[in-house]
Amino acid sequence: MVTFMQPGAIRRVALVGGTHGNEWTGVYLIQKFQQSPDLVRRTSFETLTLLANPGAIAVNRRYLERDLNRCFASQDLANPDLLGPEDQLAKAIALQLGPKSTPHADVIIDLHSTTANMGLSILPASRDAFNLQFGAYLMTQDSMTQDSMTQDSMTQNAAVRVCCGLQCGQETPLLRSLSPWGCTLEVGPIAQGLLQAELWVKTEQMIYTLLDYFDAINQGNPPPAEMPREMPGEMTLYQAIATVDYPRNSAGELLAMVHPQIQGQDYQPLVPGQPMFLGFDGQVIPYEGESVVYPVFINEAAYYEKNIALVLTQREKVPFKVV
Ligand SMILES: [Zn+2]
Repeated sequence: MVTFMQPGAIRRVALVGGTHGNEWTGVYLIQKFQQSPDLVRRTSFETLTLLANPGAIAVNRRYLERDLNRCFASQDLANPDLLGPEDQLAKAIALQLGPKSTPHADVIIDLHSTTANMGLSILPASRDAFNLQFGAYLMTQDSMTQDSMTQDSMTQNAAVRVCCGLQCGQETPLLRSLSPWGCTLEVGPIAQGLLQAELWVKTEQMIYTLLDYFDAINQGNPPPAEMPREMPGEMTLYQAIATVDYPRNSAGELLAMVHPQIQGQDYQPLVPGQPMFLGFDGQVIPYEGESVVYPVFINEAAYYEKNIALVLTQREKVPFKVV
């Protein structure tokens, strides 16, 4: 499971945007890179750019018929009966960047935005050492940037964090699963169908930092990586452990909203007994778990249909090694 990137191992890096058609940060960044390919060209590997769902982008919707970022399960890619627009797109993209067994793109960075207050969140494809390493590297770059900035709320919002999803490292239906290396980048809070300049510029800068880092590693010359803020050799990581749906009636209709005390409090501790939902009848519904958790994707607009009000994570310190 643990592998280190050998010099020359990265032949191609894929930058993907518009996997969700109404997440404009990635769409407009990829369009910029396609118009000015020198910005993302590096000497030791080829950089591919892809707008994943042009049909959904054209109508400013997350997807046309089915969430494209749930269409990459191996059995679905191999199923000839799945013929919807997103099914066909997924198969075409898997041909271009995959297959999962021997991917054409060695590293995939899939650019998303979220309506939740998640700053710049790296969701790695797996806990592979390389993925943790570049996540840790980005955190160090972030801390250096913050040292020179005032600690205002916007800066806090834009902090870089590494968050492993529920299926991190497993066979998943996510686009990023076409390669074991890389991540989904979630940036927020940004409303759907909207550009937010500060986060757009930070995302752009992060992509250049990542490409430079990959290029250095690929040439056997990793830049001196400062250790993350905490103990040397350890990094903070948020591991998803469960999703929580909104309170609903038997017909599936909403009965409550995210409580104002946790709205926007992504990555902040949620302690047992703390308010989690506010019912339309005024009733406060507390978090009834037994341990402190750190919710993310709080009140993500796209997740109402997925029956997810928030995703609970555990905060972990994990060792990693700088090569
Ligand atoms: Zn998305």
